[in-house]
This record gives sequence, structure tokens and C-alpha cells, in this order.
Amino acid sequence: MIDGRIYNFSAGPSMLPEPVLLKIRDELLNTAGSGMSVLEMSHRSKVYDEIINAAAANVRELLAVPDNYKVLFLHGGASGLFSAIPMNLGTKSGIADYIISGNFANAAYKEAGKYLKEARIAGSSADDEFRHIPRQEELTLSPDADYVHVCWNNTIFGTKYPYLPETNGVPLVADMSSSIMSEPVDVSRFGAIYAGVQKNLAPAGLTLLIIREDLLGHERADTPKIWKFATQCENNSMLNTPPTFPIYCVKLVTDYLKEQGGLEAMKQRNEEKAAILYDYLDSQDFYLSGVNKADRSMMNVTFRTGDPELDKAFVAGQAERGFSNLKGHRLVGGMRASIYNAMPREGVEALVAYMKDFAAAH
Ligand SMILES: *Cc1c(COP(=O)(O)O)cnc(C)c1O
Repeated sequence: MIDGRIYNFSAGPSMLPEPVLLKIRDELLNTAGSGMSVLEMSHRSKVYDEIINAAAANVRELLAVPDNYKVLFLHGGASGLFSAIPMNLGTKSGIADYIISGNFANAAYKEAGKYLKEARIAGSSADDEFRHIPRQEELTLSPDADYVHVCWNNTIFGTKYPYLPETNGVPLVADMSSSIMSEPVDVSRFGAIYAGVQKNLAPAGLTLLIIREDLLGHERADTPKIWKFATQCENNSMLNTPPTFPIYCVKLVTDYLKEQGGLEAMKQRNEEKAAILYDYLDSQDFYLSGVNKADRSMMNVTFRTGDPELDKAFVAGQAERGFSNLKGHRLVGGMRASIYNAMPREGVEALVAYMKDFAAAH
């Protein structure tokens, strides 16, 4: 870590790789020899065209996106897609199935209800306080649904799908905001994948959408123009001014991921990092790890002491150890360590050292 920087366990916006931050700094006044900053650059310029195309090409390469899928850069965060997905994909039967595995999954479901004939709950782990991901046998899927929506990694609760739901040909749409590029995914098994980039790819202000071509062009007639996926495809994501700086950062982060060996290498590192925390949690009984073991997230690790006062003391002690953002989400309490791609292994080791010291002292 560069002097003065701390281990930031924020769920998002979150850490970026230091080599990328340095590159941003070095290029900030004069990007790609253009004589101007990317911050000042027209999105219609040749230099910027190369940047956005390189960002999309890197996404395609890293995720092995099949040729019959489009890669789009959109505004509005992941929440924007909570509305745009039903507007664009929910027009045949007007029915869509939502699997409720946490807060964001529920937010997506609520929003879809505004634009669909019927947003259905196909399964939910609300009764279990979202400690597990609903299994296939818990799902009631509608054969005539336009799509099935899942939240792949539940950022607040700390769970991730350990299996791929079988939807019998109905397109599976996944919010992968907090797990995108943390490991390879078989894109061909999904109709669409989307992610707010501020967890694992870039600063806030941009949503990545990967969508199968046959799902384009069926949007509601009253869909706002900037939310029409087909129109955005025709305009290379530049129907209007796109979030130029975050897209530039996606290019730099994906360049970096390629240099690091791609998503197989990231997966191996992320598994090792998560294991350092989970192995420790499983080896002791001072801290509780509240979620079903098979469904544990590799990116967001939640834990608590069982005593809210002790949890508070744990969080209060973080600054002294050079950490920040370890407080759990208000819906869950306790602690949460978000350990995305950019969190170094040393940060996770330092956190476990703090956990051991705190447990010994209390
Ligand atoms: C952070 C997050 C969101 C919300 O993203 P915004 O870009 O703030 O709208 C949605 N879904 C998941 C899984 C998230 O982690």
C-alpha cells in the first residue's frame, strides 16, 4: 500500500487497484497524448472512441462474452436497471419472476411491479432473514415469464448463488453489481447481466449491461429513449453523453485485470482471501458468521459478536488499525468486510489479526 492509504473495506464505492489510481494520476492532465484530460474530452472524439471501444473489448475478452451478446455502458447505477430491465424485457407476457435473496433483489422486484403486468415472487429467503439463497426446489417459476431475475451476490447479507437456477428456457437476468469480474461466469447461461461498476470496476456513475441480442427491441413504447437498450446499442452507448470518466476507468481496471492473469487468477486470489476470513471465523466462537456456509459470498463477509455493544467497540477500534468501513449495513448490524478484487491479501490478514486481538481483549 502507498504511504498514508488505509485498508478500506467499503461495500461501494470501494478500493481501486493502486496501479490504476497511479495511471489515472499520470494521465490526468494529458490523456493518451491528446493534449487534454479525459475529463475534458469530447465523447465524439477519436481518442475517446478508442477508449470506450477498448473498455468494451476488454469486458468481452475477460468474461468471454459470446458474439450474440452486446456490451453496453449506461447511466443510472444498478438501480436504474431495476426499472430499465422490466421496461425492455417484460413486454411479451408482461410477467416476470423475481427471486428475493436480499434487499437489492427486493428493490428490483418492487420497481418491476410498476412496469409489468405482474411481477411475481418465485422464491424468497426473507423468512430466514436472507441467511441462504433459495434453492431450486424452493422456487415456483412461471413457464410463461418473460425473464427470471436474480441478485447474484447479496452485498448486504453476504451471500452468493452457489448454483445456477434452471429456468427451462426463460432468460435469466442477473444483478452482479458486487461480484462482477471477481471470477469467470458462463455468460451464455444468462439472458442479461448488469452491474453498477462502483463495487469492483470503476468509480460510481456507470452501469455495465451484457445482453443477448434476441432480447433487444421489445421495449415498451413509452420507454425513455436513454433507457432503450436497442437504441443504445445502435449508438455504441453514446446516445447522449455517457459517463466518460468511469468508462475510462473501466478500461484501465480491465487492462489491469488482464495483466494480472484474467478472471481465473482473480478467482483464485479472491478464494484465498475469503478463506483467510472464513477459516478464522470457523475456528473460534467469539464471532458469529451468520449465513449458510454453502452460500457464503467471496466479496462481502459479514460477522458479529452477538453483543451490539461489542460490535460497536470493534467498529470504533478500526481507525487505529488503519481500516475503514467495517460497520455492517443497518439492516443486518454487526460487521461487514467487503474484499473486492482491489483489496490486497495483506489487508485481509491485517483484519484477522485485529479480530484475534479484539477477541483476546474481550
Ligand atoms: C450496490 C448495489 C446495488 C445498487 O447500486 P446503485 O448503483 O447504487 O444503484 C444494486 N445491487 C447490488 C447487488 C448492489 O451491490
